[in-house]
Amino acid sequence: MIEKTLVILKPDAMQQNLAGTIIERFTKAGLRLVACKMMRLNESILREHYDFLADKSFFPNILAYMQECPVLVMVLKGENAISGVRSLLGPTDSSIAPKGTIRGDFGKDKSRNVVHASDSEVSAQKEIARFFKASEIFE
Ligand code: ADP
Repeated sequence: MIEKTLVILKPDAMQQNLAGTIIERFTKAGLRLVACKMMRLNESILREHYDFLADKSFFPNILAYMQECPVLVMVLKGENAISGVRSLLGPTDSSIAPKGTIRGDFGKDKSRNVVHASDSEVSAQKEIARFFKASEIFE
């Protein structure tokens, strides 16, 4: 199935100057970039985006981490894009992510894991609408 998914290159990706390297992993896997912008995420959009984690002890850390510097937000499109991007990333905890996955190669731990990607069709639709107007998506 052709799907679209929302991807964020998080502050640790940007600080390590990895935007090109990470985008190449996605495009080499056959995904197409159909929307992209650099954004400074504020607390309000982060509270919405990570709403399901609001009661966790590490929530303040996520808010601080995601505001360390501007991030790159994008929409990728392709065959099984949602699960495909998640498998290129590897598991949430970078310290156990296999080498060859994006988090295994460039992430640090459970928190600093380089990239966000939607985890289901429902969240992909919500997240794409959170960051992009329809007119900003080029497919
Ligand atoms: P994923 O990003 O793999 O979908 P989650 O949705 O569970 O993972 O968590 C969202 C983000 O919150 C993670 O990517 C990570 O940055 C942070 N996070 C998750 N679990 C922890 C944790 N135990 N400690 C610190 N940060 C965490």
